[in-house]
Amino acid sequence: MTRNAFWLLIAITLLLAVVLGLAAPVSQHAAAAAEIAPVNDAWRAALPADPMAATQAYMARLSPAARARSDAYFEGGYWLQGLRFALGVAAAWIIAVSGTLVRFRAAIDRRVRFKSIQSVLLAMLFMLLSAALTLPLTVYEGFYREHLFGLANQTFLPWMGEQALSAAIAIIAGGLFISLMYAVLRRAPRTWWIWGSVLGVGFLSFMLLIGPVYIDPLFNTYKPLADERIKQPILAMARANGVPADNIYQFDASRQDNRVSANVSGIFGTAAIRLNDNLLRRASLPEIKGVMGHELGHYVLNHIYKMLLSFGLILVLGFAYLKWSYGLALQRWGARLGIRDQSDPAGLPLLAALFSIYLFAMTPIINSMIRVQEGEADLFGLNASQEPDGFAEVDLKLTEYRKADPGPIEEFVFFDHPSPRKRIFAAMRWKAEHLNTSPSFHCKSE
Ligand SMILES: [Zn+2]
Repeated sequence: MTRNAFWLLIAITLLLAVVLGLAAPVSQHAAAAAEIAPVNDAWRAALPADPMAATQAYMARLSPAARARSDAYFEGGYWLQGLRFALGVAAAWIIAVSGTLVRFRAAIDRRVRFKSIQSVLLAMLFMLLSAALTLPLTVYEGFYREHLFGLANQTFLPWMGEQALSAAIAIIAGGLFISLMYAVLRRAPRTWWIWGSVLGVGFLSFMLLIGPVYIDPLFNTYKPLADERIKQPILAMARANGVPADNIYQFDASRQDNRVSANVSGIFGTAAIRLNDNLLRRASLPEIKGVMGHELGHYVLNHIYKMLLSFGLILVLGFAYLKWSYGLALQRWGARLGIRDQSDPAGLPLLAALFSIYLFAMTPIINSMIRVQEGEADLFGLNASQEPDGFAEVDLKLTEYRKADPGPIEEFVFFDHPSPRKRIFAAMRWKAEHLNTSPSFHCKSE
């Protein structure tokens, strides 16, 4: 590919992305929430005791239109994942054959002495070019489609501004990480895949440590939760479960979208309980308690550390595969693409493409690792909050963007949370067992 053809292609993808963004439909999100039939305490009191039947009663409140829209949104995501993967590999290949990185490396070779700075610059250039080549899909997936399904609130320019900011953070952080990886590769050409995994886990821990403090506030405003009627029950639940938090924060996620969300972030002894304004606006106290019980569960069950360990395993396997496959790829294409050896950062597109093939193949495994933890947090949250109906109500709301009732293989491959139906069933099962035991409990305690 000639130099001019490459830059022309970049210009076309940028133009296409802007056209897509400006042509996006305007969101009508009020419609989505209206498609779940509202109920009251009398309805909840009259629910059948059998968990299966109670789950069915919850599911029946989803209108056929809401169900169809939810399925279409979520199933479309399956194809988008495949498309994103294919486009990412294609972009890496185009960057490799364009020779842009090799030329850039030659241009800075004499001016920049340090190998580590060279690899930071090359890695950043690669990520920038690859983001530009895939931008039309990013705009379609993150903006156009979100508005099409009534899930987003932002207009195009502010959205694009936030995309640029998060891309800048990713490019800086990614550039530093990749440069460290190349330093490991130069010093330990045979065992880099082991040290690289340790470095990967360390880097991820660092991002988890600084993310809530320095990165999240760039996108949203965090302030202490003012409403004592919500704050006190959540703090009580935190204290009861040994979570060291004395304040709760709310943030303005409604700037971006309507999704209800919360988290308990923190690693190495810090804990911050944070919930978004959509949750505060769209959910009752029992629902909020159900959600926060779940989030506290992630903290108490040490899910971050377990996830870091599992991620380390995924990385060590992935880097071992990379060492083998990259060796083969260099034998075959290295000379033609102008890549000197395995420690030449101009080979980064090839490495990135090979690694994304691995990650794509691992998708069901990674989703299942996360989904298992989410199921654990659900059970913890039900016990901590004792709000099965509140929890089920929120799960019903989540069908806005998650398919309600998938098949078992579909759930295994694509779901990083249990399906709404399974979560509602878990809540109704908890409720049935506690309804049965509570009268005798009361008798004994009197
Ligand atoms: Zn969770």
